[in-house]
Amino acid sequence: MDPSALNQRDLDRWILQSRPVKAEIDAYSCVAQMHEYEPLGNGTDVSCNTLFLANRECSFRCIMCDLWKQTLNRNTPEGAIPIQINSALEMLPEADWIKLYNAGSFFDSRSVPVTDYNSIGELTASYRKIVVESHPYYIAESCKHFSELISGRLEVAIGLESAIPEILNKLNKRFTVEDFRKAAERLHNWDIDMRVFIMIQPPFESPEQSLNNLLFSLKAAFDAGARICSMIPTRLGNGAMEMLHGLGYVSPPNLKLIEEALKSALELKRGLVIVDTWDLESTGSCVCSPLRIENIIRMNRSQQPLPLTQCTEC
Ligand code: SF4
Ligand SMILES: [Zn+2]
Repeated sequence: MDPSALNQRDLDRWILQSRPVKAEIDAYSCVAQMHEYEPLGNGTDVSCNTLFLANRECSFRCIMCDLWKQTLNRNTPEGAIPIQINSALEMLPEADWIKLYNAGSFFDSRSVPVTDYNSIGELTASYRKIVVESHPYYIAESCKHFSELISGRLEVAIGLESAIPEILNKLNKRFTVEDFRKAAERLHNWDIDMRVFIMIQPPFESPEQSLNNLLFSLKAAFDAGARICSMIPTRLGNGAMEMLHGLGYVSPPNLKLIEEALKSALELKRGLVIVDTWDLESTGSCVCSPLRIENIIRMNRSQQPLPLTQCTEC
């Protein structure tokens, strides 16, 4: 059985039914917050405070998504997001940029009420850049409005995942490559930066295709105006992905492929590319794993393609 062959309603239902139990979260506390650094590509880093906001669950049902695990089942109460930001920032040092990630679309007013935009603008006034995430569907008037009321520059992150039309469609993202391009054009016209998430070896992609497909997707993202692409190694963990794995439709990439993917991506010389290093340790169990992770981190920072780790075991 190929779940992606199901009609829209049945596919959404199958994805929901495959889920493990969802956690209960507090609408007035961030799910997590951290202080991190991101390369600027000129040999320097920029400091970022990254907040994972608690808010209403995204209304889309992407097949690989596990972000719903820490979201609310109801609309985010008005005033809750500013309270979360205020408390999280009290725990973090100063930084140049702030990322307000909300496990969905920042411009979905059920997740982030428009009435909170002014307070969010005031709380983030000292940051030079504010990064939020959004599905292309929500990149509309409220996005432009938000960019005009904040002091820093806005950057919107879009989860394109893959620019291969059949794969994008099977991921149940509910947008096409053309929709992505149009959203990118709107951002460009409003002088808003764009970052793009691309998956390394997404479901329905064979290991033989994955490197070529990845480079194709990166080029499509840069052609559309991406300032930076962040590559996300495919992971299991949302129920549907375990089912797909069992059916042979997904094989998460190993560290060898992730390292090679980053090197090849940097060799394109199209723009900034980083690998999301979250949970990278769980990706490899070979003796070379620590060296590969170190090399990935070094390439992330330097933005230079480095020789690949040599290993006789894998
Ligand atoms: S749009 Fe993003 S948050 Fe929403 S289901 Fe898809 S991957 Fe998850
Ligand atoms: Zn090895």
